[in-house]
Amino acid sequence: MKQENQKSVMESFSLAGRRALVTGSARGIGRAIARALAECGATVAVHGVRPSDALEQSLADVRAFTPKSAAVTGDLGEPGCAQMLFEATSSAIGAPDIVIANASVQVRRPWLEVPESEALLQMQVNFHATYQLFQLAYPAMRQQRWGRLISVGSVQEVRPHPDMPIYAASKAALENLVRNLAKLCAPDGVTVNNLCPGVFATDRNADALNNPTYAEKVRAGIPLRDFAMPEDAAGAAVLLCSAAGRYITGVTLRVDGGMGI
Ligand code: NAP
Repeated sequence: MKQENQKSVMESFSLAGRRALVTGSARGIGRAIARALAECGATVAVHGVRPSDALEQSLADVRAFTPKSAAVTGDLGEPGCAQMLFEATSSAIGAPDIVIANASVQVRRPWLEVPESEALLQMQVNFHATYQLFQLAYPAMRQQRWGRLISVGSVQEVRPHPDMPIYAASKAALENLVRNLAKLCAPDGVTVNNLCPGVFATDRNADALNNPTYAEKVRAGIPLRDFAMPEDAAGAAVLLCSAAGRYITGVTLRVDGGMGI
């Protein structure tokens, strides 16, 4: 059998036989990533807070490629949700050997007005639930000596928005976490990386970017002078998940049109 690094380039992007959990994949970036992983052959557990038409559509996307893909639901702001999601995924598609912690909560509010409840919720969903999912998935990855743990950060790690201080800090914590865990997990064949979007045209930005003055101001700060579409994150995710990315670990890979420079 060929080693991972002896495959042809095209073969090295295959995810055939892999099982992936992508949180927050009913919509937006997560949905585009889930679809791309399925297109490359992975069986995928798509996820939303609760059952929805969007989640059903995302499930249909992935099942078109890998019919054993499944949908799981749960609010990662709730205690015990990461455990429940991991168990639901394992019983639906088997223990995931790829985890992409993409779901997040983002609150825009001046920093002096952020209540404790909103601060804790953002840290819980964006940072702590990611950590918990990594903890839960790692033992099976270690046993099979192959795995991919991927957090989804933000350009706000290096360009914090003045009205999202906790969100930006929660994402910056992921950058540190993956560098720490990458060293710990590397001997077991598990890579740990942080995929870091810039400004994507997704539901959470729709109101803000519908304001032409604000949209132009944001665009002017992006060297490529354009907002990203969800699909723009798909190739980077496939790279980090596949054998093509087997030698990449501990990095923050920015998909941001140069905004973080
Ligand atoms: P989005 O369109 O707002 O979708 C968010 C997804 O996360 C949805 O599927 C949602 O589930 C799920 N979700 C929200 N709250 C949750 C909770 N408490 N528990 C579990 N799941 C929850 O998001 P996006 O814009 O694609 O962003 C995806 C990731 O990229 C996030 O981590 C975000 O921080 C990061 N990011 C985005 C941008 C951007 O410009 N869009 C920039 C930098 C970083 P439901 O569908 O069920 O509501």
